[in-house]
Amino acid sequence: MVSDRMASIQESTTLKISAMAKRLAASGQDIIDMGVGEPDFDTPKHIVEAGCSSIKMGETRYAPTAGIPELRRVIADKLCWENQLPVTADDVAVTPGAKMAVFASIQAMLCEGDECLLMGPSWVSYEPCISFAGGRVAWGAVDDDFMPSNLAESITPRTKLIIVNSPSNPTGAVFDRRVLEEIRDLAVDHNISVISDEIYEKIIYDRQHISIGSLPGMEERTVTINGFSKAYAMTGWRLGYLAGPKEIMKWVTRLLSHSVSQATTFVQRAGVAAMQGPQEEVSAMAAEFRARRDLLVGGLAELGIACSIPGGAFYAFPNVSENGGGDAFTDRLLKEAMIAVTPGSAFGPGGADFVRLSYATSQDRIKQALERIGKIVN
Ligand code: PMP
Repeated sequence: MVSDRMASIQESTTLKISAMAKRLAASGQDIIDMGVGEPDFDTPKHIVEAGCSSIKMGETRYAPTAGIPELRRVIADKLCWENQLPVTADDVAVTPGAKMAVFASIQAMLCEGDECLLMGPSWVSYEPCISFAGGRVAWGAVDDDFMPSNLAESITPRTKLIIVNSPSNPTGAVFDRRVLEEIRDLAVDHNISVISDEIYEKIIYDRQHISIGSLPGMEERTVTINGFSKAYAMTGWRLGYLAGPKEIMKWVTRLLSHSVSQATTFVQRAGVAAMQGPQEEVSAMAAEFRARRDLLVGGLAELGIACSIPGGAFYAFPNVSENGGGDAFTDRLLKEAMIAVTPGSAFGPGGADFVRLSYATSQDRIKQALERIGKIVN
């Protein structure tokens, strides 16, 4: 009854855990939800107002598949000035969430039997998108700080795509220029394309974000993906985008036209307001995430739980191999400490020793979580 293609797609562990945590909380349990992948802030007011006034003005009809011209233009300007990517509005397509940009670009770039390289623990949705395209994941090794190591060893004649996700979900790792240049050299030498998922670009602490597509030699082989969910606390609005070589964008747009048609018209107006409006709230959210990161990672260290310091995103990815491993520790945290986290195994074979703790929750809740963790590890 069910197609072979669908049967290869696993349920999303992060959404499953988040649903379980919500169920337990609804039944009256005091669950600290550190499984979530969304900012706990509200969408800034001026963005909400732009969306509302667009509806009131009657902008409720179909828009062009690749997005309204105004939004494509402000996205292209942002990519040019902030990311040094030489794109014009014609090279940009707007999508209902960055997730659809990831899905569509992978479908456009991978053939049956092609390999896609993921570097260490990686966001849960890449592998299903790759399977759906008929491709296979090759898992590249990473060091203790989740930086790629010996990448060349993971390249085979079938490798057609590398996905870069910096800052990373789930590890929080941020790739510096040297790492990106190594990936660039491999991509150029072996004629491999790159998808750069930069959704956590604005949530970055000690480093500068670099788009791999801006490095010499990468313009014609890189698709850059970003969105509004994390930077502007707009997860439910569903707004993302991608930009890349014309030939790929042509097929991506065709796929969008036959599937989702477009991102919601009035949501795109909110997107214009987000990018053109004041950016102080974006910086304030990043500053708060930084304080939470310091609190959580410092607290874990005091409890003797090893954790590489995340340079971006809002996740800590501690090694819990001395506490029974990721799956068992996730179970204990939920049952004994009423803390919902995501086991590292959800992010690929390299994640089994880890758990992912989202710190998109208040500093008070993080302090409570540390106290509860302390009780079960000591
Ligand atoms: N990429 C990564 C790495 C993510 O973590 C997420 C959201 N969890 C997305 C893409 C998709 O974001 P959205 O569809 O909400 O724009």
